[in-house]
Amino acid sequence: MAQSPPVATDESPATTASDNDPVISECQRIGDKLGSVEIEECLDRKLVVTDGRSVLGTPILYKAYPPIPDQRLPLGRVLLIGGIHGDEYSSVSIVFKWMRTLDQHHSGMFHWHIIPLLNPDGLLRQNSQRMNENNVDLNRNFPMRDWESSTRDYWINTTYRDPRLFPGLSPLSEPESNWLVQEIDAFQPDVIVSVHAPHALVDYDGPKNGPHKLGKLYLQLIGTYPGSLGNYAGVQKKIPVVTIELPYAGIMPTAGEISGIWADLVKWLTDNIHVKPYKVAGDLSN
Ligand SMILES: [Zn+2]
Repeated sequence: MAQSPPVATDESPATTASDNDPVISECQRIGDKLGSVEIEECLDRKLVVTDGRSVLGTPILYKAYPPIPDQRLPLGRVLLIGGIHGDEYSSVSIVFKWMRTLDQHHSGMFHWHIIPLLNPDGLLRQNSQRMNENNVDLNRNFPMRDWESSTRDYWINTTYRDPRLFPGLSPLSEPESNWLVQEIDAFQPDVIVSVHAPHALVDYDGPKNGPHKLGKLYLQLIGTYPGSLGNYAGVQKKIPVVTIELPYAGIMPTAGEISGIWADLVKWLTDNIHVKPYKVAGDLSN
């Protein structure tokens, strides 16, 4: 193995409230962009800067909800990701709402790493776009073993070079997808939950079965796209990947539905994710 990857850790350094604080400036931009997330709400989540950077150098922010050893051992590790696609606003906003819930109720049942916005350049530009700043669809840029023959070929021959689905010139050509793969390797999630819009369904890739329904969203396997996160993590790495497709990119679900999806997700995780013995990530020799 090469150098230790730049990863998220659970030791969250205290952030100082200065104008130069990258979390403050990014929260300002998020609050300006998203109708459902105020600057103050973003700041209240106390997100932490990772080593991950977008093409334009914007930090990828995250928050850990670590184990609470005095209370219980977690059932497992969950990686929750919003905003892989920069024009799916609701996929970012809803993750902020769920972090607020966890801030109040985190019990240590799961060890969470939460990345509300993997593609900050795509969201935070004037005209938000699905792709990152290099016009790559990050959700087609993951390193399948047969990337050249499957992902690139699929883009050319099946999508007819749809620019919104451009997988990049090579796997992990983009810093955002590259960082996420390093984070997956370091955190070793037992399940990955990725939020998108607007197809109004639950999709699932990986061993065993996905959740039948989350809130009013029902499981509907839409097939795995070469180079997607579900394809890479779910099929190739055998990590369960739950993909939540919200009904609208620009309209949030109701408050009842936001908590309904969350409650069903936590129940499904509780019924399906039991990792024994639990091993705290980060005590690996790296
Ligand atoms: Zn999407």
